[in-house]
Amino acid sequence: MTAEHPSTVSPMTTTTANPLKINEIYLSVQGESTWAGLPCIFIRLTGCSLRCTWCDTAYAFYEGVDQALDTVLDKVASFGVKLVEITGGEPLEQEGVYALMEALLGRGYQVLLETSGAVDVARVPKPVVKIVDVKCPGSGEEARNQWANFEKMVPHQDELKFVIKDREDYHYAKGVIEKHALAGKFTLLFSSAFEHLNPSDLAEWITVDRLPVRFQLQMHKYIWPTDTKGR
Ligand code: SF4
Repeated sequence: MTAEHPSTVSPMTTTTANPLKINEIYLSVQGESTWAGLPCIFIRLTGCSLRCTWCDTAYAFYEGVDQALDTVLDKVASFGVKLVEITGGEPLEQEGVYALMEALLGRGYQVLLETSGAVDVARVPKPVVKIVDVKCPGSGEEARNQWANFEKMVPHQDELKFVIKDREDYHYAKGVIEKHALAGKFTLLFSSAFEHLNPSDLAEWITVDRLPVRFQLQMHKYIWPTDTKGR
């Protein structure tokens, strides 16, 4: 599997409405969520208005190439895999993402969307599996959480992800789950912030509390060096 650098993506072809600014498109193994471990095509859109302290994709804040929708679809089709994740950056900050999601669904792809939780998800097509962050205090972006998104997500399909940096974040996440009665409604993913919190500490806290959440590691960070793009 080869990482695609922005300079290697296909040139723009016939322009359609709302071209997409693409940071990278590549095939790898899904590293997170209940879809972890499966071969997956990643479409990384450029841009994000948040600045999480532990962000691992700062290279996607500005770097990217404008591409027409058809060019993106051709690139995706070339991999021969039917699982696609749209990520960023924050993909919902580009208007063209809605046409991209519809086009992928129309071509029979299983589509996942990774989003920060800071943007309204109401316009995301229902069959798209939304993996929505809840920003904990350690991210520095807690104030950006859009709590109304919980009412716009699809129960028993969509997933919520909490990146836990320390014990304060853990208690915050527990409080959010209780306050909004999220247990049993969505898959709740707890990740230890890479290089900030020892995964064994988080696993211990969850088991002691019998918390109904799914502990996860960012698998790709243990497979490949952490500075490897396109993984
Ligand atoms: S929302 Fe995602 S891309 Fe944006 S700063 Fe936070 S971790 Fe990085």
